[in-house]
Amino acid sequence: MMCGAHLADSVRKKASKALRQQLILPKGEHTTILVAISGGKDSAVLLERIHENLGRRRDVTIVGGCVDEGIEGYRPPSLECARELCEELGIRFETVSYPELGFKEMDEVVEKIVSMEEKKAPCSYCGVFRRKGINHLADRVGADVIALGHNLDDMAQTIMMNMQNGDLERTLRLAPHTSTPLEGMVPRIVPLRWIPEQEIHLYALHRGLPIHHEECPHGDGALRFRHRETVAMMEADVPGTRHGLLRMADDVKKLHALADGEFRTAKAVNCPECGQICSGQICKACEMKNQMQ
Ligand code: SF4
Ligand code: ZN
Repeated sequence: MMCGAHLADSVRKKASKALRQQLILPKGEHTTILVAISGGKDSAVLLERIHENLGRRRDVTIVGGCVDEGIEGYRPPSLECARELCEELGIRFETVSYPELGFKEMDEVVEKIVSMEEKKAPCSYCGVFRRKGINHLADRVGADVIALGHNLDDMAQTIMMNMQNGDLERTLRLAPHTSTPLEGMVPRIVPLRWIPEQEIHLYALHRGLPIHHEECPHGDGALRFRHRETVAMMEADVPGTRHGLLRMADDVKKLHALADGEFRTAKAVNCPECGQICSGQICKACEMKNQMQ
């Protein structure tokens, strides 16, 4: 166990190193970074770190953006934490709600799912809608880069899920996109991806960042939470598992780049309803939106 000062130092070093590797600032050009924040610990630490590292640069603008999913009891207080953090740091704050994007509020989506006896978990919809919201905010502020607060555990869980589904496509699309940009999408960076969730939590407390501690009431039963346990078990059994999973995914991406994208399976087309680049007939967000009508 590390003491507070050592822990803070370690978190700072790891975040700075990853940020340097993932964010290439073009000389003589201005860069706008949208930092996706939720009011939770991860994105709070992310924003605090990016602000510390880049806040004084004239060629960089940082904007904090929060998507309001419409979840009573959870979103209003966490949105206020996100706003408060931006105010403390003197960072512009932007927000967009699901209804503004043409989606139903999550509380309503959950009711509908129950009435339709739909087997998909609320998070399946919410994840897709939120991605749309983040893209919308990126558009609004003219972002060149989007920063996401995924920590080491999040990343390892996602990689596990993709491997379990044999989903190579998704593994290849994983952030950071620094050397693997995706057509029609603002590149994502994930500067906290080598930092364990627990260290981030302790760091957020150590720094006294305004964070919301409650979890979303619709999150139970989500596949991600089961993977959280699996990855934690594997890590306890074989320390270094999480790092190994990330390195493996990085290597797969590198191999793919070397193969010149030859084993790409899906072709990117524009969604006929919203114009976003997607791989199917119609994008996931529009498909789910129509399902909820
Ligand atoms: Fe949305 Fe699921 Fe997260 Fe709740 S837990 S905010 S429903 S993705
Ligand atoms: Zn669409």
